[in-house]
Order: sequence, then structure tokens, then C-alpha cells
Amino acid sequence: MTTKVVDTLIPLYIKEFSCIGAACEDTCCSGWRVNIDEETYKKYKKVKKIEMKSRLEKNIIRNRSNPTKSNVAKMKLEKGSCSFLSKEGWCDIQSQLGEDYLCNTCATYPRRNNIVNRVFEQSLTVSCPEATRLVLLNESGIEFEQGQKEVNIKELISIINTSSDEITHWKDLFNEYRYITIFILQNRNYTLEERLLVLGMLYDELEEYVKKNNINEIPNLFGQYLKCVEDYTFKNAFNNVSNRLDIKIRLCRELVVVRLNQGINSSRYLECSRDMMSGLNIEAKTTNEEVKEAYEDAYTKYYVPFMKEHEYMLENYLVNYLFKNCIPMDCSSPFESYSRMILHYTLIKFHLVGMANHHKGLTTELVIKLVQSLSKTFEHNPTYFEKILGLIKENNIMNLTYMSMLIKN
Ligand code: SF4
Repeated sequence: MTTKVVDTLIPLYIKEFSCIGAACEDTCCSGWRVNIDEETYKKYKKVKKIEMKSRLEKNIIRNRSNPTKSNVAKMKLEKGSCSFLSKEGWCDIQSQLGEDYLCNTCATYPRRNNIVNRVFEQSLTVSCPEATRLVLLNESGIEFEQGQKEVNIKELISIINTSSDEITHWKDLFNEYRYITIFILQNRNYTLEERLLVLGMLYDELEEYVKKNNINEIPNLFGQYLKCVEDYTFKNAFNNVSNRLDIKIRLCRELVVVRLNQGINSSRYLECSRDMMSGLNIEAKTTNEEVKEAYEDAYTKYYVPFMKEHEYMLENYLVNYLFKNCIPMDCSSPFESYSRMILHYTLIKFHLVGMANHHKGLTTELVIKLVQSLSKTFEHNPTYFEKILGLIKENNIMNLTYMSMLIKN
């Protein structure tokens, strides 16, 4: 195993994380495929403890069709959960053989590790309930800390290198994108809706600069936006953006149906989606006009009053999302990356409004339950999002007007 001392950039919440094991409401061993890497697989072959040796032989399935170093086998699932999950909710491999015997997937989860321009970055994915609490519940917002750390190279997932002396590609400005995007997202002089709309304008302009190959002028554009955000130029600037709730409702209904049709493993998400549908009166025969009435009512009565006090939860979700996924490096263009983030935000908000009506109000626990289970169901399903983004591109709606309509209300 190789370790190395490297520079780090890590959100402060990471220090507080530890797995709560048996007390977990939605253990990561349930509903997910657990791939085993080559190094761990070889270790399992050498286990001497008789009982564990026979369990490993029985419950590990070789990947014979398409093996890679990180995926030579997988754990057998029993009733949808890992066969090594004890009745009390602990991992038998860890408790009987030790942490060193965890495969890379289990040793790393829910951490996301990146090396970005030679700096080690770690964050948590909110598909883990304990991680969701740490990420979302910090009222003063997510803070980051720079330092140094000895890192186990085995834990790394992706390496991104963008720094170069000469700027020749829009991705060479990654550090600048990230700085300005987090700066705008955490600026509480604006509502979250306003912040997302400002980012939409910025990413739309970036897209034009990239298309016209004006890469060297991008830093000037950032300077102008920073100045305008600081001197309140954008405050109340979006009151005239049209509020096309009908369009948002049509899209969200379709997004949920496409995902439900793929089959859902998370019972927590199924509970949330049922509550959302009951709150918005969504049934096969309900018209979008009827859903719109229920949405408008729930939005004013329950969602807005709760979010007045708790908007920081969605801000933290978005800041964590963009740090973890190295936005906008996750897509082939800046605006596509922005659109992907807005789709996640829109789905979360749509569910919360429906759930608020069903429960006659929102609580921090309901927001945590929804964000965690929705992330497990949607965010960890890359093929789903590729399909959705493909459809949005085909229909020519990956544009500022459409995304702004999704953000409003
Ligand atoms: S989901 Fe998180 S808290 Fe729950 S068992 Fe997995 S790592 Fe632990």
C-alpha cells in the first residue's frame, strides 16, 4: 500500500464523520452492488479463519465477463443487503477480520477522494444518512480547510490536472470556476433562487466565450461578476423571469416516472415519493393543472415559511455537490454542468413541496430523509442522468430561459 504526504483541501465537516453502523437508517450495504477490487480479492483467498473462509467462498461472485482491477468480483446480496451485514447492522468482515480487509468500495464510502491539481480533496456523498446530517445541518455554511496529510493512494478515485502555464482550454481555469461558483452560492445577501439565477447567467456567458474561443477573456468576466455580486447589482433583478410552473411540473413528473420505471431499491425514497405524490395529488389521471394548484398552495403555506429559516440546508447541499463533483469538470461544457446541478435542485424542491403538503409542514429530518434517499436513487445512477441530459439536449431546452423557469418557485 503506497502512502504519500500531500497538500489538502477538505471541508471541516469531514472531521466529525464516523459511521454509525447499527444505528444507521439506510445502511450502505442495502440495495447496492458492492464491487471487490483485485488486491482485496487476493486477501480473501488467503483468509485462514475456517468460518470466514467458507462464508467468503460462498458469498463472493467472480466477475468473469468483464473484470477490471477495481471490479474482479462482487458481494452476494441477501434480501437486497450485503451477505456480510450482521443482524445487528455491523459488517462481519470488519468485525472479524479487521478494517484492512474491507474492499476499496467499503473502505472509502461515503468519502469521495479527488486529487485536483496535486491537492488532495475529500468530501462526503449525501447518500449516507450520517453524512447528510453533517453536510446539511451546518447553519453557518460549509467551510474548507487547507493543510497537509498522509494519504493512502489506494483510496483515490479520480485525478484531475488543469493547471498549466498557458490557458488553452476552458477547463484550465478550474480553480477560478470553483472559487466564483462557491462565492456566489454562499452569498446570503441574495436569496438562494437569486444566487442560482446569477450562476445561470454566468454559466450561459461562459458557454458563449467557450464557443467563440474567447478563453483568455474569461478571467475578466469573473471579475465583472464578482463586482456586480458585491455591489448588489443583481438584487431583485430577476422579478420579471417568468414563472412557468406548468413546465416545471411536467418535467418533474416525467423525471420521477422514468426513474420509478427503472425499479427502486431504496424504501426510504419510495416513502418520500409516495408522500410527495399524495401531497401533490399525483395520480395517473390527475392533470398538471390540478397538480399545479396543490403545488402553489403547499409552496406558499409550508415550503416558503420553512425555507425562510432553513435555506442553508439546500445551500450546503449545492456547495457540497459542486465541490465533490468538481463542477464544471464533470461535463463537456460549463452550461451542461450547471444544468445537471439545476436538475438535482429542481427534483429536491419538487419532492419537498409535495412532502410538505402531505405532512402539513417540513422538518429538518424530512429534508435529510429526502436528500439522502434521492441522492442514493438518482445521483448514484449515472445512466439515468445521461439519458435525461440527452433528452433535454434533443429537445433544445438546455438553455438559460428553461433553467431559469425551473429555478423560479
Ligand atoms: S450509510 Fe453511512 S452511516 Fe450508514 S452504514 Fe453506511 S457509512 Fe455507516
